[in-house]
Amino acid sequence: MKHTTATPTVRTPADRFTGDVYLNLLEAPAEPARLAVGLVRFTPGARTNWHSHANGQTLHITDGVGLVGTRDGHVVRVAAGETVSCPPGEEHWHGATDTTFMAHLAIVVGDGAGDGTTWLEPLTDEQYAAALSAATG
Ligand code: MN
Repeated sequence: MKHTTATPTVRTPADRFTGDVYLNLLEAPAEPARLAVGLVRFTPGARTNWHSHANGQTLHITDGVGLVGTRDGHVVRVAAGETVSCPPGEEHWHGATDTTFMAHLAIVVGDGAGDGTTWLEPLTDEQYAAALSAATG
């Protein structure tokens, strides 16, 4: 077995995220498993760009309160202990609320070339403000 006592915390790239977001990559895609697992920590107001995952994604919130939204305007408010499953190809975003931190485990199965994520444009401040108002659950 491989026992990792600590993984580096790195800033996520500004062309894929808004605000300060930190990633610990816990598992990188490796044949034949293709599993990728990251611990992602969002500071208040921070969020991903719009994006989709070729094979879907499971998010398990480990700390704080955040939001997950889809193109149809559906936004769920998520808290520690909760889990969200994003189906393959569904465009969505995830992030903190404007007043709280949020951390989640992000679990994906890669496409053989990488982690299978297609990155799109940023969630605008207007879209984010609307999501804060629309959030349910
Ligand atoms: Mn995602």
